[in-house]
Amino acid sequence: MKLSTSIEDLRLRHTFTISRGSQDVCRVVIARVEDGKHTGYGEASPSSFYAEDVDSVVRALDGVRGSLEGRDPTRFRDLLSDAAESLGPNRAALCALDTAVLDWASRELGAPLWRMLGLDPTQAPPSSFTIGIDTPERMVEKLREAKALGYGIYKVKLGTGDDVDIVRRLRAESDAVLRVDANCAWTVRETIEKSRELAALGVEFIEQPLPPTELDAMEEVYAKSALPIVADESSIAPEDVPDLQGRFHGINIKLVKCGGILPALRMVHLARTFGMKVMFGCMIESSVGITAAAQLGGFADWLDLDGNVLITNDPFAGVENHAGRLVLPSGWVERR
Ligand code: MG
Repeated sequence: MKLSTSIEDLRLRHTFTISRGSQDVCRVVIARVEDGKHTGYGEASPSSFYAEDVDSVVRALDGVRGSLEGRDPTRFRDLLSDAAESLGPNRAALCALDTAVLDWASRELGAPLWRMLGLDPTQAPPSSFTIGIDTPERMVEKLREAKALGYGIYKVKLGTGDDVDIVRRLRAESDAVLRVDANCAWTVRETIEKSRELAALGVEFIEQPLPPTELDAMEEVYAKSALPIVADESSIAPEDVPDLQGRFHGINIKLVKCGGILPALRMVHLARTFGMKVMFGCMIESSVGITAAAQLGGFADWLDLDGNVLITNDPFAGVENHAGRLVLPSGWVERR
């Protein structure tokens, strides 16, 4: 099995802003595993918040390339568990390899991953569409734009001075499902107060109000919040999940945070064991990463897999997003 990588620049339709910063271009790594018969594609959209970038991903994958020569990728469990050990904290790199190997294995075994897992993708919930931070007027415009395309669920990025006002204006435009993501920008008191106002505006849940370092403070939020709280920055990998019990109502699993599909499956089972809801989310990603995550949609209570519809130059075709309803290809992801 041969592994190769390339870096792609994904261009965003609109400047994408969250509480930590803005971007117009997102750099991702596409991993390819080949054996002369099939090519499997994987992706990593690394985030500096998790101390990774495209260069660290490529370097980490260069470091394991030699050990993959001669390995049989149909035995992906052993192969990826060895790679996880070698890659250590480089979870985005592991994600690129894991998703590429599982794409290869699906092609070799002749069944998409969702089928091997016994899932029914038509039972997956529809995905939300993300509205990044902007002036309240522009955020309303973005909602109108997405509403015209038929989207019915929005994830609104917050962490501004006018959070509740923004949601009030969006609510005046639409009775759609609204979810909010503070990306660690709030305090305990702010979260509890805002949860009441946002609940009155019909918001469904709040994602990651506090920084991940304030895990203990989440106990008060959990006890007093008027809305369910979903962990994102606090829920990186499987070993994080047990500590989230009694602090969060659900977890947002992203393949690039945890290291791909195999760790994501462990997170699903852990979340269920501890009575938490499961959400699948994404970074800005091409159809390679989004199609991989969408394979697991049948496990989810909530989906936020819109990374590929926020870009204008997706180099791949795979899952299609029909106003939030994700339609998986009958075959595989392919380069356009
Ligand atoms: Mg988030």
